[in-house]
Amino acid sequence: MNLILFGPPAAGKGTQAKRLVADRGMVQLSTGDMLREAIASGSDLGRECQAIMSRGDLVSDAIVIALIEARLKEAEDAGGAIFDGFPRTVAQAEALDAMLAKLGKKIDRVVRLKVNDPALLERVAKRFAEQGRSDDNPDSFKVRLEAYNRNTAPLLPYYADKGLLTEVDGMGTVEAVAVAIDGALDGPVS
Ligand code: AMP
Repeated sequence: MNLILFGPPAAGKGTQAKRLVADRGMVQLSTGDMLREAIASGSDLGRECQAIMSRGDLVSDAIVIALIEARLKEAEDAGGAIFDGFPRTVAQAEALDAMLAKLGKKIDRVVRLKVNDPALLERVAKRFAEQGRSDDNPDSFKVRLEAYNRNTAPLLPYYADKGLLTEVDGMGTVEAVAVAIDGALDGPVS
């Protein structure tokens, strides 16, 4: 199965993806994690993306598409991917469909975690205090939310039109959201 975990920054996509990896043996493909690894390793790619990311802007479609392409076959061979933080633009979504089609695969489900803005701000403030991630500071987070609303939210109709979208209440505890996601994955698209 190929699943997209969809939602704004700090909605809980990474936490839920890791839980699904543990429970279902799927492979998490997080472009944010890949980019942070590139920065930590001091690679050219990391240097190119560092300032863009700490501002809260999106890096180019070409960069993230290449990162996914490099990991896709391995994830498909392992039984399927959980896309976390990708796609974030319509161009990325179209590229993902094309890359999967080349492997004879497709997106099977898109689960949207619905979390309201006040809760996102509360979560990110907590994460910033605990982890000190530079793009979790209030100014960058505002830019990230704007990028989500402008570039990423328009993907919702893209997947709804394909009959792939299921919405889940992401406001509860990690456990409650996990139960809701399992229900969404194992039941019909709602
Ligand atoms: P995330 O951990 O998914 O919130 O991503 C952290 C940052 O990495 C984002 O704010 C962007 O700067 C960059 N990034 C991650 N994934 C993408 C993507 N699919 N498209 C563009 N930029 C991305």
